Amino acid sequence: FPTVTVLDIPFVKTTAAEFLTEVQHRIIQQQNTFVVTANPEIVMYGHDHPDYQQLLLTADFITPDGIGILNGAQILNQPLPERITGFDTLQALLKWGSDQHRSAYFLGAKPTVIAQLKEVLARDYPGLQVVGLHDGYFKDATPIVADIQAQQPDMVFAALGFPKQEQFIADHRHVTHGLWMGVGGSFDVLAG
Ligand code: UDP
Repeated sequence: FPTVTVLDIPFVKTTAAEFLTEVQHRIIQQQNTFVVTANPEIVMYGHDHPDYQQLLLTADFITPDGIGILNGAQILNQPLPERITGFDTLQALLKWGSDQHRSAYFLGAKPTVIAQLKEVLARDYPGLQVVGLHDGYFKDATPIVADIQAQQPDMVFAALGFPKQEQFIADHRHVTHGLWMGVGGSFDVLAG
């Protein structure tokens, strides 16, 4: 995709539908992919923390998750078509994953949320192969990463909040041939 740079972050210039198609294509091709759906908080945090900024720039795609980013692009006279949010992208991928019998690993949120999420996924996305569910309050990442590597999920969703989730993904994404995406507080919302 072409990009538009707002506050030193290159955002993909595409629609949510086109973006989803590309991500699905890469999953089918088993291409390792790191997606950041960047809201203004993430962009500002990157602005103030160069190490985090560098890590964001290792993502394959950074999408505009917030009207503030669209406004910024408009001011630069390089408008972006629409928001591409983490929550909408997650929901669309779960639906597609259920229809196509793809596999997913869920890492993050509190143990009670993860327990609830397991039931919601089984009810709402019955075709999805949920190959792992782990809360986000672990001390040692090693056994979790080993589990992800063993399962080889098509999609890993990390709901550890920023900057933790992007750091985790940047450190470990190469153990699979699939998608890795940080989804912030989305598990809490999905679990209801
Ligand atoms: N979280 C986690 N481990 C941590 C800190 C946070 O799993 O060490 C989870 C937390 O339970 C919540 C999510 O990460 O589900 C963060 O949500 P929040 O809305 O604060 O993050 P944002 O969407 O702003 O990145």
